[in-house]
Amino acid sequence: TSHPTLLWLRKDLRLGDHPAWARALASGGPAIPVYILDPVTERAMGAAPRWRLGLSLEDLGRRLVARGSRLVLRRGDALDVLRALVAETGARSVVWSRLYDPQARARDGEVKAALRADGIEAISVNASLLHEPWEVETGQGSFFKVYTPFWRAVRGREPSSPLAEPGTLAPPGKWPASETLSDWRLGGGMKRGAAVVARFAAVGENAALDRLGAFVEDRIAAYKDERDRPDILATSRLSENLAYGEISPRTIWHAGRSAMERLSGHAEAGAEHFLKELAWREFAYHLLYHTPRIETENWRPEWDDFPWHADNADAERWRRGMTGIEMVDAGMREMYATGTMHNRLRMLVASFLTKHLLTHWRVGEAWFRDCLIDWDPASNAMGWQWVAGSGPDAAPYFRVFNPETQAARFDPERRYVDRFIAEGRDRPHEDALSYFDAVPRSWGLSASDAYPQPVIGLREGRERALAAYQQRRSAT
Ligand code: FAD
Repeated sequence: TSHPTLLWLRKDLRLGDHPAWARALASGGPAIPVYILDPVTERAMGAAPRWRLGLSLEDLGRRLVARGSRLVLRRGDALDVLRALVAETGARSVVWSRLYDPQARARDGEVKAALRADGIEAISVNASLLHEPWEVETGQGSFFKVYTPFWRAVRGREPSSPLAEPGTLAPPGKWPASETLSDWRLGGGMKRGAAVVARFAAVGENAALDRLGAFVEDRIAAYKDERDRPDILATSRLSENLAYGEISPRTIWHAGRSAMERLSGHAEAGAEHFLKELAWREFAYHLLYHTPRIETENWRPEWDDFPWHADNADAERWRRGMTGIEMVDAGMREMYATGTMHNRLRMLVASFLTKHLLTHWRVGEAWFRDCLIDWDPASNAMGWQWVAGSGPDAAPYFRVFNPETQAARFDPERRYVDRFIAEGRDRPHEDALSYFDAVPRSWGLSASDAYPQPVIGLREGRERALAAYQQRRSAT
């Protein structure tokens, strides 16, 4: 049993609570961690998540070296690379943490079958979800299409306790060759933006654990009241770390659970609400697993004939944060300059695109995929279809977010808008100015320009959307 085991890392770039690491080490032989930049991974990722992936790999690589191990990097078809590594190292087994998007599942299924046919042990484990999508079932034995009953089914289901970091990483005597991370140029698509966004990122497992600790300490008690306020730092910001598996959802769940036990009354409700939000991520994966079309197709096919516009000039103004509606533009600029956007704004800007601008949700979904350092295939698709009205358990289409009402309710002192809109301010906020540093020069934007006129009147856009909705309803 002294044969090495290959640990194929993907979206599980950490050491703590890592069942695949535990499994690889259990055999007693050496463990060889490998990251493969394969076409399936590359195709899915937009510029910002790709850049951010590079930071995560760099951090993990450093940590492994500090513990006497290494991260082997290879680019190419996943099966080809694994076979080559098996041949080079004499490994007899390959272990990985499961993924749930359809492209990865198809790839992993083929890899598993092919390795087994080669006589190699191929093992996949759960490290990225609290519960496997097939473990949570309705009374009728099918999957959930509505969140509330899903939550009722998972709220009392305790995931097992997180695993400790492995004590030793069992390095092999001889390492297979590794490519060089910088040669992959993962930040290539980010251009100038990277330097700006880097200020807002918290990279790696230690940063993620610090984030969790600070959130539980300072914010979880007020979470229920303040989580919708983009002008306050009220949420955990852990989505960035979850996207690369720098922390496990199980670790987060248990931290929330112990906060619930420690706190009482309102504060306890804050902690419970946090678990409830974490369960939205689970629900997104539940839906993606059971209905993979949610990524690309209207979940409800009756939306296929809705007269959404394809990409267009107004949508380009939306992407650039130049719609002339401050709350919308602030959200879009926050995303471009920081790589994330507050959830309240994600809903608002998505509503503005799909309703006021009558533009297909896929246009927005693609832009988010390019810009978000917390990009997640399941949550992004679910979020867009929820707002657009085409998803399961979606907001009804006629619920058109009003940017002015949203601003009055959730940004009452205009602090959020002032943080991200520079035009017309005597002393613009540095984050508002940083947007102009982040955008490509070719957009020709300057903080000293006049703020744009509205791309559409708020009432006009709302009425046009509702008319299109009525017409479609009467046509069907
Ligand atoms: P917290 O409030 O601290 O919540 C804790 C965790 O719960 C989050 O890290 C996240 O994992 C999960 N969570 C919270 N809200 C949601 C939600 N609505 N759906 C799914 N999971 C949730 N989230 C992503 O991680 N990646 C995306 O690409 C993404 N795209 C979205 C697109 C749209 C149109 C919408 C409306 C939402 C999208 N979300 C996405 C969900 C949500 O906006 C983010 O998860 C949240 O803003 C992350 O901030 P946080 O970590 O501070 O969240």
